[in-house]
Amino acid sequence: MGISVRAFGTLAADAPLSEMDIPRRSPGQDDVHIEITYCGVCHSDIHTARNEWLNSTYPVVPGHEIIGRVVEVGRNVKRFKKGDLVGVGCMVDSCLKCDPCRHHLEMFCQNGCTWTYNSPDPHTGGRTYGGYSTHIVVREKFVLKVPETIDESAAAPLLCAGITTWSPLRHWKVGKGQRVGIIGMGGLGHMGIKFARALGAHVVMISRSPEKARDAEDLGAHEVLLSTDTKAMRAQANSFDFILNTIPVGHEMDPYISLLRIDATMVLVGAVEPLKPFHGGGIIMGRKRVAGSLIGGIKETQEMLDFCGKHNIVCDVELIRIQEINEAYDRVVNSDVKYRFVIDMRSLKE
Ligand code: ZN
Ligand code: ZN
Repeated sequence: MGISVRAFGTLAADAPLSEMDIPRRSPGQDDVHIEITYCGVCHSDIHTARNEWLNSTYPVVPGHEIIGRVVEVGRNVKRFKKGDLVGVGCMVDSCLKCDPCRHHLEMFCQNGCTWTYNSPDPHTGGRTYGGYSTHIVVREKFVLKVPETIDESAAAPLLCAGITTWSPLRHWKVGKGQRVGIIGMGGLGHMGIKFARALGAHVVMISRSPEKARDAEDLGAHEVLLSTDTKAMRAQANSFDFILNTIPVGHEMDPYISLLRIDATMVLVGAVEPLKPFHGGGIIMGRKRVAGSLIGGIKETQEMLDFCGKHNIVCDVELIRIQEINEAYDRVVNSDVKYRFVIDMRSLKE
């Protein structure tokens, strides 16, 4: 037996999002039943709603930056009780037994983790539906505690944009005494600046746009480097200990690789698509590395949320009603948002 909840989703790649009813499973012994209050709008939501990754099964109900309150818990649930402020990110389940799962890397589960939306749902036999809805039922292990001190609407994008930037900064041990570059200043980049600064690094925002440069300093960047200024780029060659590259599309890599010091790494988190060819000499000379990173495990996501609670770090967001979602998608595609839309999900009940 399942339950029916109100949601906002789409029935086809070229159709706008609209109101619909979707099934959720009845909460089981290990489940947390959550009333959703806020949901961030990630670029992946748009790729999936519009079938741009060619893997969408309709209806699609996007949303994987979910904040809400617990309304009910299963008998075996230990960490949560009714009324708790909680979050759900990009994953809602995995096998928890394979090697990556045992090392807290559920996103790389060898048996395939269950994504929050547009993923086969082993519980229902159907597909998963995301956070553009009034309620969601999630296995306890994949529910995060959100510090009560945090602004909950601005915390929503931490569940995807936040962990996507936090995880590589932690994995590559970014901290004091290091010169760190953040390329791109959208939802991901603006969180990269905040986290790198809070971790004690010297933060350089690398951007093509002089207008974004001014905002970067407000977000915590110590310096701005205009990638279009070849003289400035040359002056900063071989000077970075780490670069976080959030550019969402294929691009020239060589100019950024030249900024890395010996043994330094540039990590890609944005472009899930072909890159332009880059010159092998650029990484051979200086033993440099180009790497990638995908969100982060549940344990690390909790560490990030706890850090954000302690240091009062949230995203810069623009709050919208669910009825404004189609217009918001067009604005995200045009990079016309500072820096993340968050939907007030109570608008769905009106
Ligand atoms: Zn996302
Ligand atoms: Zn696994």
